[in-house]
Amino acid sequence: MKKLSILGSTGSIGINTLKVADYLSSEIKVWGLTTFQNIQLLEEQIRKYKPKAVAVANEEKADLLRKKLKGIFEGEIYGGISGVVKIACLEEVNLVVSAIVGAAGLIPTIEAIKCCKDIALANKEVLVMAGQIVMDLAKQHKIRLLPVDSEHSAIFQCIMGQKIEEVEEIILTASGGPFRERVESFDKITPLEAISHPKWEMGKKISVDSATLINKGLEVIEATYLFNMPASKISILIHPQSIVHSLVEFIDGTILAQMGVADMQIPIAFALTYPKRYDTNLPRLSLSQIKELTFFKPDLKRFPALRLCMEVAKAGGSLPSVLNAANEVCVEEFLNHKISFNEISKIIEKILSFHKTIDEPNLEEIISCDNWAREKTKEIIKN
Ligand code: NAD
Ligand code: MG
Repeated sequence: MKKLSILGSTGSIGINTLKVADYLSSEIKVWGLTTFQNIQLLEEQIRKYKPKAVAVANEEKADLLRKKLKGIFEGEIYGGISGVVKIACLEEVNLVVSAIVGAAGLIPTIEAIKCCKDIALANKEVLVMAGQIVMDLAKQHKIRLLPVDSEHSAIFQCIMGQKIEEVEEIILTASGGPFRERVESFDKITPLEAISHPKWEMGKKISVDSATLINKGLEVIEATYLFNMPASKISILIHPQSIVHSLVEFIDGTILAQMGVADMQIPIAFALTYPKRYDTNLPRLSLSQIKELTFFKPDLKRFPALRLCMEVAKAGGSLPSVLNAANEVCVEEFLNHKISFNEISKIIEKILSFHKTIDEPNLEEIISCDNWAREKTKEIIKN
């Protein structure tokens, strides 16, 4: 029986995880849930899943929920990010779904590993920021780090039972986002256009990341750590049908690919029940109906954020954490109509050029680089 804490249960991945828990109720029990401030949805989830404890990162909202559920919910309602960490470390829990978006997920994920919980990792920013530290901790505490990101789940499945030394190349696929074929200027792109992804329904931040293609770059960095591969052995192919979720080429010329309908419940279910597979009740892939699968190279000139990521992935050190922090601020400001779509990559590039790289940063240094990059990005945007 997997006893789950879902960090970020009110988000897109969190909601999909609970859908999986619905039909795998004989295998999975929901133990802990957390939200930033969506207490309305958290209350619904509490009533339905009856977790042992929950946390609300926003302290005021935590208070509100406590008042509201007095006499109704017996479990603890923790507040603040320390409360989220409590949920990550609940004693009976054996699997933590890391589905908070952005840097806010870093400390709860690290603490869960230190408490020897297996991790189903959706939050790629955790590995972008502190990949080496997280992978070392996972090894030290002998826990499983199971990828939820669809591409990484695909790669994980393609190398199951294979020798990693026999891998020649990892090929990450990308849908290309909503602006793959856009002919008009990118400067006029509105937040609403940017969050309307053609293939996947996701949170706002990752949707904008998919529109700039920085999401794919973050995934390259994520893959370098998860699979212990240099960035030079990871390439990207645009694949608009989003059927092949990624591929692995071996030294003998064999290529293995993982395919399926574009639904996050499939990689989530696999991470939750690994190494077993269960019936997901989802629509099946019909290749004869799809007829055509196409692949082509990404255009780094039209999507400069992806080029920046490739450079940063190769350079490593503290650069990925700086890129990530600058991107988080830029995405938020873009969504608030404060900067244009094109400015996202321009500002990130500027911040990277100001940064003095630390080669093997420790956690404190990573957090201070993250803070520095956020402040600097805000300053540039303000001026
Ligand atoms: P989302 O915005 O829909 O949900 C984010 C969740 O995190 C919410 O529950 C929110 O309450 C919580 N949260 C946000 N800020 C917080 C904070 N400061 N403190 C504590 N909790 C906070 O995001 P999402 O689309 O579900 O993505 C989550 C993560 O999974 C991201 O890192 C994303 O890159 C990754 N991912 C998502 C998808 C997808 O299909 N949505 C696919 C692959 C990977
Ligand atoms: Mg992905």
